[in-house]
Amino acid sequence: MSRETRTKRKEVEKARRDKMSELMRDYDETVFYPALKAVKAECADVGHGSKHNHDNGLGWNFITCLDCGAMLEKHGPNGELIKP
Ligand SMILES: [Zn+2]
Repeated sequence: MSRETRTKRKEVEKARRDKMSELMRDYDETVFYPALKAVKAECADVGHGSKHNHDNGLGWNFITCLDCGAMLEKHGPNGELIKP
């Protein structure tokens, strides 16, 4: 694949992502994010489930709930705890 073809493909894919975001904006703001927030709040109320530990390869470490996906802890490159 030539560099030019790769650049064109990325532009086409970005245009699609941008259009999808535009089309979904109202739904996300009024339905999706509030529903997801409610699921995370319910999960927090009963105590989050198993934890998933993810290292992004750049020294950052993220601990999330496997059930609801909530970010429980975020650690910087020096191990410092950063409020999620
Ligand atoms: Zn949870």
